[in-house]
Amino acid sequence: MAKVLVFIDNPGTSLKKSSLELLTLGRALGETAVALNGKLHDDVAAAFAEYGIGTVLLPSAEDLDDFLVAPKAAYLAAAAGQAGANIVLLDNSPEGKEIAARAGIRLNAGVITDVVAVDADGTAHKSVLAGSYNTACKAGTPVSVLTVKANNVVPVPAAAPAALETVTVDVPAVSAAARITAREQKVASGRPDLTDARIVVAGGRGLDGDFGPVEELADALGAAVGASRAATDAGWISHDAQVGQTGKTVSPQLYISAGISGAIQQKAGMQTAKVIVAVNKDAESPVFEIADFGIVGDLFDVLPQATAEIKKR
Ligand code: FAD
Repeated sequence: MAKVLVFIDNPGTSLKKSSLELLTLGRALGETAVALNGKLHDDVAAAFAEYGIGTVLLPSAEDLDDFLVAPKAAYLAAAAGQAGANIVLLDNSPEGKEIAARAGIRLNAGVITDVVAVDADGTAHKSVLAGSYNTACKAGTPVSVLTVKANNVVPVPAAAPAALETVTVDVPAVSAAARITAREQKVASGRPDLTDARIVVAGGRGLDGDFGPVEELADALGAAVGASRAATDAGWISHDAQVGQTGKTVSPQLYISAGISGAIQQKAGMQTAKVIVAVNKDAESPVFEIADFGIVGDLFDVLPQATAEIKKR
């Protein structure tokens, strides 16, 4: 049976859905412990117990969050060694991937990113070459480090809660060479985080500068707003919203693409969505090759109609 370690970085007072997904996946693969960076808040401890986690490892250093990723990777590698883990799971954020790479070197472990599923024997599934191929791959090392895309596992609490014990991991000396001194305070939009969202409504150049129809549909569905690079480069929406090869990778249950042509670089960030709905006025647009449902029409007609219908329910 695999020994799994899930890394969770500074959850604060509650766990994100993507963390609950990692805990559920870990449990399906074997005996699962958590390496937590940050303080263990009571509500988070209760969630761990509910998800059947018996052991939470905590760093001996007060808080690694003021530092760039190298000290977190050093902590994770030490925690994985202490827990005897042979599978280490992290989220698929840019920081998660960097920590995975650095911890992988310390653990002499194979690292696989952008994972959408993991078999019982540790085989990971992911797409490669900007979404051209789906692959099954397995690290040829005793330990594997996997970063897992959100929204590919349904979070399920354990049949019976676990009794939680905490264990301290001696953190190798933290390098103060680089330190985070301030963070930009994001303006809360009230919408879900793009990479965690179950539904994403994304707009492209076809919006011609007006994201209103996309935002209204997103709000009616409780969805996040995404965009193509053409839209972010034009300054119509923040670069944070860009989906694709040089933007964010999303894997929602539903991705609604409006006025986006479906270039390979856009596809790379969204083609693992469970259901893709495309709205485009050009019936020949490549986006229809990857769409499960296609609507040929003007998005300024189609999106408001969809929003009005959803609001009636
Ligand atoms: P277009 O290709 O111009 O498509 C606009 C679409 O809107 C057309 O299909 C048109 O028929 C439709 N349309 C117009 N008006 C309407 C209307 N009223 N109603 C309905 N449909 C309408 N792109 C990304 O998205 N993400 C990336 O991360 C990314 N990374 C890149 C990295 C590199 C190295 C390079 C070279 C490119 C990258 N790109 C990326 C850019 C990518 O190649 C495309 O140029 C970009 O995705 C096009 O954006 P778009 O589909 O919005 O615009």
